[in-house]
Amino acid sequence: MVSILGAGPAGSTAAYYLAKSGYKVELIDKTEFPREKPCAGGLFNPEMYHQEFPHVKEYPGKYIYRSKFYFGIDNDYNVAGYESSRPLLKMVMRKEFDYFLLNKAIEAGALFYVAKNPEGEIIIDATGVKPPHFYKDAGICLVFDYPLSSDIDTVHIHYGFGGITGYAWVYPKQGFANIGIGAYLPQRNIRKIYKNYVDFLRRNRIVEVDDVKYMAKIIPFAPRSRWYERNRVFVGDAAGFVNPATGEGIFFAMLSGKIAARMIVEGRDFNWYENECKRRFGYWLEPIRFRNRPGLLNMILKKAVKIAEKDKDFAGMLTENFFRLGAHNLTWRFLLRLFF
Ligand SMILES: Cc1cc2nc3c(=O)[nH]c(=O)nc-3n(C[C@H](O)[C@H](O)[C@H](O)COP(=O)(O)OP(=O)(O)OC[C@H]3O[C@@H](n4cnc5c(N)ncnc54)[C@H](O)[C@@H]3O)c2cc1C
Repeated sequence: MVSILGAGPAGSTAAYYLAKSGYKVELIDKTEFPREKPCAGGLFNPEMYHQEFPHVKEYPGKYIYRSKFYFGIDNDYNVAGYESSRPLLKMVMRKEFDYFLLNKAIEAGALFYVAKNPEGEIIIDATGVKPPHFYKDAGICLVFDYPLSSDIDTVHIHYGFGGITGYAWVYPKQGFANIGIGAYLPQRNIRKIYKNYVDFLRRNRIVEVDDVKYMAKIIPFAPRSRWYERNRVFVGDAAGFVNPATGEGIFFAMLSGKIAARMIVEGRDFNWYENECKRRFGYWLEPIRFRNRPGLLNMILKKAVKIAEKDKDFAGMLTENFFRLGAHNLTWRFLLRLFF
């Protein structure tokens, strides 16, 4: 028998694929479902989700094709817009999406328990984010789903808002706007900067919201040093599989869960798991260049948004890189546009 601890996207996906292959699986969470999870709920590059996890196609979500990238504060900012022919995002409510994935695992034959001791010979640890010291780098995110009177359809990414090493965002959902901010730790005054961002959105009539609300949560920005120990393999946030440039983690959580299931079904070892994860998505977990020089990093991002304002191709590449639609080497293009 296999025990899976944590029934978020990583755990439920591992359980789904193991149960489908005929394995006896116990999926154990510390809480009852459906449960809240502070998250923007953006499935980046939905076409790739549907290709990799065909059952996700059944889940209804709002598709987003338009993006706006900003750099600057208050009324002194550059902004580059882009409309893609392929969906950038499928927006979901995490409470419902995670419950959907859990039910898929149960339908496939996994047994779900709340707060039970694991009995399996192998343990898949999908217990989500750990305290920051578990990871080489970690961040803090503040987020809330605000109900809207009229829907919006453009995602807003505001690099370096309030001087942070990170970005603030608006992700539109059906009937809601998810407004959030994420920055590398340590970060002072993040609550104040979040409030300023909501004010900025109001002033610029991007989103009309009343009270400022948020939930705060730690986010890994680098994998932990070991991805397995003894009979336990780490998947998803427990392993630190989040793209530090965007905060995207759901896809890597689900993919690492699927790879862990494949490891067991094909009788492979933990070393194979580690190499397969690196091969499939290691590129997207690379640390951000100049992350320790926030002044320089923000100067480059500001310049990039300025270039994208005038150059549609560059704006397209920036957008595709951000939403994982494609991996473009932006450096050469950036340098060329800088000097010519
Ligand atoms: C504010 C914010 C916004 C984000 N926005 C996005 C986004 O738009 N798109 C995106 O792709 N990613 C986003 N992420 C990242 C994403 O939320 C995570 O990467 C993803 O949820 C990881 O899934 P998981 O299954 O590993 O962990 P989780 O979803 O955290 O699930 C872990 C589960 O384990 C359970 N658990 C914990 N401890 C135990 C235990 N001891 N025993 C049993 N069960 C336990 C928990 O109850 C929980 O159900 C965001 C993160 C934050 C903080």
